[in-house]
Amino acid sequence: MKKIVSCILCVVIALSMLSVCAFAETKTECGGNCDTCPAIVVPGIGQSNVWALEENGDYMLDDNGNRIMCFPAVLDINAIIPKAILPVLTSLISQKDAGLSDALCGAVRDAFAVNMCDKNGKNTGNFVVEKYLYSVAECSEYEKEQIYRNIPLQNYAKMAGEDHLYYFAYNSFGNNYDIVTELYNYIQMVKAETGHDKVNIVPISMGGSIANGLFEYYPQVMDDLQKVVYIVPALNGSTIVGDLYTKNFAFFDTDFLYNGFLEALMDEEDARMIEVIARILPDEVLTSVLRNVADCLVEEVASNITMLWGLCPKEYYPEASAALLGSKPEIKRQTDMFYQAQLNSDKNIQTLVDKGVKVFNIVDYDVPMYLIGNSWNNDNADGVIHLSSTAMGVHSAIVGETLGESYVQANTSVNCADLSHNHISPDNVVDASTGLLPDHTFYFDAQGHEQTARNDAIISLATVLLATDDIKDVYSTPDYPQFNAKRDPRALKNTYIPEAKAVDMSALSAEDAAELAAAIEEAEAFVNSTACYEGQQKEVEDRLVNILVKVGAREPSVKEEPKTLFTNLSLWLYDNYGTNGIFEVPGLIVKVFFKLIEFAL
Ligand SMILES: [Zn+2]
Ligand SMILES: [Zn+2]
Repeated sequence: MKKIVSCILCVVIALSMLSVCAFAETKTECGGNCDTCPAIVVPGIGQSNVWALEENGDYMLDDNGNRIMCFPAVLDINAIIPKAILPVLTSLISQKDAGLSDALCGAVRDAFAVNMCDKNGKNTGNFVVEKYLYSVAECSEYEKEQIYRNIPLQNYAKMAGEDHLYYFAYNSFGNNYDIVTELYNYIQMVKAETGHDKVNIVPISMGGSIANGLFEYYPQVMDDLQKVVYIVPALNGSTIVGDLYTKNFAFFDTDFLYNGFLEALMDEEDARMIEVIARILPDEVLTSVLRNVADCLVEEVASNITMLWGLCPKEYYPEASAALLGSKPEIKRQTDMFYQAQLNSDKNIQTLVDKGVKVFNIVDYDVPMYLIGNSWNNDNADGVIHLSSTAMGVHSAIVGETLGESYVQANTSVNCADLSHNHISPDNVVDASTGLLPDHTFYFDAQGHEQTARNDAIISLATVLLATDDIKDVYSTPDYPQFNAKRDPRALKNTYIPEAKAVDMSALSAEDAAELAAAIEEAEAFVNSTACYEGQQKEVEDRLVNILVKVGAREPSVKEEPKTLFTNLSLWLYDNYGTNGIFEVPGLIVKVFFKLIEFAL
């Protein structure tokens, strides 16, 4: 009898311990028993808060008392000016590089000091990564704000619960292998915390390169995944970074430097002003200074950062690593390992598919690449990443061109379920049948990389993919077609439609009232839809704004005359004196002075 009682007691105690354990371990309401696996966002470059620290561990603060972000660099102008002033003046007077390169390289070293890595590829700076080692449900209001600002998944959180959403923060300039390992461990933590035996991951931009490492180094993780929803992933880096590591900079060409380079990056008049000011140095001096600064940036800073190597396309890696990593064997060992991960990217994604993991991809196209490196126009792009990288090897025409009238769909992927599918984009730019996942890749025309999270159709597509099983592929619903377009209806939603609805219709002519009503209806239909064509938003906005102006409910927008002083001066200099510095041509300074007055009047 005693024995039986003690046995029962043991069992009771054991069971109660178990249930305590179970409660202690799962933090979700569902206890892991719902249909929606928790989602882990693996964000893009610069989408994690990394704060600079003082030597004593306190946050470094700027003049306004705000914490200082390490990404992309910590520029302290007050420290640079006193160090640079003498070399700048001496170089101007002597018209030679009298310490100017050294001063600027010093400034680069100071600015990137916090992001520097040693010969083992480990960070040496003093910083802290703001990590969220718990679900969004447990995040403070401040933390939620940080996360949702980067990726507005509030609707997903409403559908699946904030306890089913995680944000994996990391240092964009950190150690690649360590961060991949951290992600693997993070996935294990999320499984344990939520009680789910599988998770969904959302690799965004640079997060795509981390996912490459994850599948290569921890292939067992594939059994932990239900879905992978890639968003503009850098699966084969970016040609900008390839050009950086091979020092294939567009501004090394002086003609381009003085006429074209800056205009592509900023307002034309500002760009032209810099071009004119740059001419106070002879062109050879200026280019040699630029080359020295670029050398410093690439060799001393970028070549040690293994996360950045993760963005070097496989086509550039052999040349770049041979040139830069000869004396850094440990970094090369790590980047060689990642190179393998990149070479195997498609193969590993195919293994995911074969194992039954649902893999989706959302990409942008037809936005010219920032013109920094000479490869900018080798492939279509989203402004930051070339299209064949995000869209898993897809073939497309470059920005502004089409595949041609006689182009025939190539059907090179094994993953298209039906060869009768039409995978050519309506604008005849992309042949989606050539990417690895033709039936699961969604393309957004004219959508820029950096504004991806502001495209509400992309966010709602990701939400539906993560929170439901409604979308099986690009043919599941016309709401989310394979080929969609750029949009950001915030102005329509928050300004134009409310303004239009506040207009007193009874005071308008019948014709105006009808047009206003129709314009509102069209605008609301646009806002409430998730599928559109390129340029549709502008049409809808213009129609609504035009009628608002016509009925006097909105001031017509006044177009400011663009300023042209420095534009005229820079072009006059370039046409007449090529790339020469102002003091290289006798008497030119006087002519410039009179031209300046002439253009100003
Ligand atoms: Zn659940
Ligand atoms: Zn297909």
